[in-house]
Amino acid sequence: MDYLGEVITLGIDSVIFGICLKQYLHCKNAIKAIKDAEFHEIGPQLGDLVDKSPDNKLSYIAIRGIVKPLGKPLTSINNKKLTGVVQKLKIKEHVVARTTAGFWSDQERTVHKVYNTVPFALYGQGHSVEILEPLSADILDLDMVSNTFEPTVPSFADHLWGFFTGVRQRGLQSTEELLREGAVITGIGELSRTKSKMLTLQPPLNGTPFYLTSMSIGSLFRKLDDRKRTYRLLCIMFGVIGIVIGGVVFRRYWKDRTEQRLAEELRQSLAASRKERRQRVRDTELREDQLCIVCRTNPREIILLPCGHVCLCEDCSVNITSDCPVCRAPISQKAAAYII
Ligand SMILES: [Zn+2]
Ligand SMILES: [Zn+2]
Repeated sequence: MDYLGEVITLGIDSVIFGICLKQYLHCKNAIKAIKDAEFHEIGPQLGDLVDKSPDNKLSYIAIRGIVKPLGKPLTSINNKKLTGVVQKLKIKEHVVARTTAGFWSDQERTVHKVYNTVPFALYGQGHSVEILEPLSADILDLDMVSNTFEPTVPSFADHLWGFFTGVRQRGLQSTEELLREGAVITGIGELSRTKSKMLTLQPPLNGTPFYLTSMSIGSLFRKLDDRKRTYRLLCIMFGVIGIVIGGVVFRRYWKDRTEQRLAEELRQSLAASRKERRQRVRDTELREDQLCIVCRTNPREIILLPCGHVCLCEDCSVNITSDCPVCRAPISQKAAAYII
């Protein structure tokens, strides 16, 4: 295919543009939703608000309270004094890899990632709201409890292996993050009351993002606004790249088409002038058996091979390419026949 490179580039560009556009719209909708959401400290008024609202739920609300587990909390692996309700353990491998250009570059990949959670609630003024599905949150702020890096001491065999495979391990980084018991966080989501009369905050059903963050509403707003701006810039950038590539492809296609059209016109005019020249030199006084069997006007001028029949004029032979019209033998070659 002539435009394979350009089409692949355009395809990749469109995919990136699509992702950026989706993220941009997501941020835009989230900012709008947060702007419209009411903010409440947890207290006795929350229950009344839910009971007064239609369907006994508030579809998007921001609340702030203190994290407390509803049972036994999780204990940090690296610091036994710390307890929490959401724990994220991650192991990353750091490697030095040889790129296709021949340079060595630092790279990292996640080898292992695990989340542990226990049921928890946000407390305030003697009231509580249970948090459901915390891992579905768009932003879930956790505190870094430990971050250790263990360098690998390579043996001779490792060096040799690294030389041939182009990948050398530098070490393993283990991190532990925790949503700590007693932390003050803001939860933004759907507030409703369960059958057991407990208030719950969960991801909204309409797809609006769910947040559990240590940031204030203002900071969250600014963070999302920054994200929105970044994605808008990326959208513009990849959009422009797409338009430029599209323009280049279209220009090349148009140029090729024009060239093809001109070549075809030239070929046709040459064929027409040859036909005219032939017509001028042709013998007009011919016997019936000397006439082309198709047009019955021009002399027989072409020999068909391998059968050897001389039955067509040059004009008619252009359109007959597969079988000989006399014996139906397949035509492998045509040549001018000179009958003296
Ligand atoms: Zn003919
Ligand atoms: Zn034949």
